[in-house]
Amino acid sequence: MHIPPPASALNGIANVRLPAWLLPGNWPVKNGEPVTADMRFQAGKISSLMPAGPSQDDLWNVHGTLALPGLIEPHAHLDKTFTLARSRPAKPGLLAAIETLHQDRQHWTAADLRRRAGKGLAWAAANGVTRLRTHIDWFDVVPPLAWLELAGMAPADITLERVALVPLSFFADAEAADRIACAVAQSGKDCLLGGFIHSSNWDPAAMTNLMRSASRWQLNLDLHIDEELSPVAHGLSWLARYLSDNELSEHAFSGHICCSHGCALASGSDQQAQDVLSLVAAQRVTLIALPMTNLLLQDAVTGRTPRQRGITLIKEAQASGIPLLLGCDNVQDAFCPAGSYDPLDTLSCALFALQLENVFDQQSRLICDIAALTGDIQPDLPLAPGSDASLVLFPGSDSITWPLHSPARLVIRHGRLTHQRTWNQELSHES
Ligand SMILES: [Zn+2]
Repeated sequence: MHIPPPASALNGIANVRLPAWLLPGNWPVKNGEPVTADMRFQAGKISSLMPAGPSQDDLWNVHGTLALPGLIEPHAHLDKTFTLARSRPAKPGLLAAIETLHQDRQHWTAADLRRRAGKGLAWAAANGVTRLRTHIDWFDVVPPLAWLELAGMAPADITLERVALVPLSFFADAEAADRIACAVAQSGKDCLLGGFIHSSNWDPAAMTNLMRSASRWQLNLDLHIDEELSPVAHGLSWLARYLSDNELSEHAFSGHICCSHGCALASGSDQQAQDVLSLVAAQRVTLIALPMTNLLLQDAVTGRTPRQRGITLIKEAQASGIPLLLGCDNVQDAFCPAGSYDPLDTLSCALFALQLENVFDQQSRLICDIAALTGDIQPDLPLAPGSDASLVLFPGSDSITWPLHSPARLVIRHGRLTHQRTWNQELSHES
């Protein structure tokens, strides 16, 4: 494929293959697949999107290459990333990883944080990520150094969101809960309140303070919730009932909530799960599954093959109409020794762990649905005319192969090619 010079403004793309989920309902289909599209760009925006027509010389013909809107990394930990070489956990499982990272904090200077987080952001951008949400651990009611350092780190091509990851016990005191929420609210837009909610620290009074403070400061939430296999984990079921019981009260929460993990949903009975999912579906809640770290950290015992997958109930949640996303969670730290900041790797993992079908045409939405992340209603489909001309192309792949065997990447931001990772024919050798 001919590739235009980097950074030059493109008139548009001809013959691009987009997934069925982001095309209008009346889009023509051939042999069971949506026909390719011609897109025109103007001033960094999409000005038209049409079924591919006769050859148009001023457009870049990509000959049926697959493409998606800019990818999302909805759940990362840039404060912890790339610490594995100096801090390896002695035992498997979630709690041992928490202890190991706690010890690693002595190295978290401004320079150390910037070096590691910058590497994560650069990897993500090259993979086509245009929006990344990182959780940042808080150790007190005032923002930690990482919260302040990461604030100014977003490269031009990534929107960086920060979530204050606060232990639930800090919210036990209503005044402390309010100080934390106030500090997050004053940190600017793209900042959210979060917490680690688990059977080991369960406290419904602290949860109530967390919800009321978030409401008072008009913050959206992103909670680490029920990252465990206990069938009686309280977090998600409590939250679903709190939201539905308080809908009309003075404490009603009107923001959007992402619930990350939700592993325990897969441990109880089908009826138990359905009851919670029905309540969740009636609220502004998105579930974020983190298949890589759940497979690694749940049911983890030295010398024993894990029996349970530990991943939340994606298919049942989809059937209930709950918005869903997939995230990478930890990358190369005590929680997860691997990871790449490539949402395609996360989706490949989910394909097998969750037995996903129709991955490109339907499930690719799980790694690029911005409305699911922010909770903002989007009036149009992501690549409708008027939208930002930001796309990721996957040269050499096809709708059956993808997301496997698809490392090549061409990233377009605001109508210009910004990153390319292509197969170098001159260096290739097969014998
Ligand atoms: Zn996490």
